[in-house]
Amino acid sequence: MKFEITILGSGSALPTLTRRPSAHFVNCNERYILIDCGEGTQLQLRKYKIKFQKIEVILISHLHGDHFFGLVGLISTMNLLGRVHKLVIIGPVELEQLILPQLSVGGAFLGFELEFRPLVYPIHQVVYEDNVLDITTIPLKHRIDTHGFIIREKERLRSLNKEVFDLHGLSIADIPHIRRGFDINLENGTVIPNAELTFPSEAPKRYAYCSDTVYRENLIEILTGVDLLYHEATFLNEHKELAKKTFHTTATQVGVLAAKANVKKVVIGHFSSRYADASQHIIEVKENFEEVVAAEEGMVIRL
Ligand SMILES: [Zn+2]
Repeated sequence: MKFEITILGSGSALPTLTRRPSAHFVNCNERYILIDCGEGTQLQLRKYKIKFQKIEVILISHLHGDHFFGLVGLISTMNLLGRVHKLVIIGPVELEQLILPQLSVGGAFLGFELEFRPLVYPIHQVVYEDNVLDITTIPLKHRIDTHGFIIREKERLRSLNKEVFDLHGLSIADIPHIRRGFDINLENGTVIPNAELTFPSEAPKRYAYCSDTVYRENLIEILTGVDLLYHEATFLNEHKELAKKTFHTTATQVGVLAAKANVKKVVIGHFSSRYADASQHIIEVKENFEEVVAAEEGMVIRL
């Protein structure tokens, strides 16, 4: 089972040579999701050798350019490379009207279906679901309507106890059935209980993405116990008034939130270009919460 996040963009509104605008690539048990798509995201996908035609769902948090200016370019490239399978885009209701005219004015004819699923702010509900995972929105508070997302695995399959499996001479064809938790009935009437054939599965994991937002106490309940929280930390505490005014969060506030929500690990990002590096951000988060890393492009985090 694989659940991993690749950071493609860790900066905020102003792209720099070291930090690109927001984008995360998620592989959750072979389901491929892109969260936000700032300018240049397709080049980052190439740089980190991610086969981006595999992306099935794109989530857009809000309509500030550093979160979606790369979308039309990515769609266009997917088309030029011969994509045929459907792409689902979940984001603000106006997104479809921003993207489709840019494609049609140039006479682009898409060879695949684009399905827009509009988010009407503010909602906290499941907006995507399949047999592997579901995605829930988190209402955030920014200068414009913004949602975060929680990607949650469904139950992991149980692992096979190979010794017991071999002992009974069972067929490989039985494995999926066994891993889903069923007992096995032998032809002689003997029942082999599933508890003998398998080991318990690991608890399903959750990844939460919160960017952009002012510090909000009411996120605590939604985020409680998540395995990994990505949270913007645009500013340091010395700029807390600016953070409040621009509806962003300080690194200190992220530490407080992570501790109160009892999350397992935090990644901070969306750093203002005014800071040379994120070392002070880490120090500030650690005043309240120890398990923190600063997002760097190309970083892969496994859950
Ligand atoms: Zn932003």
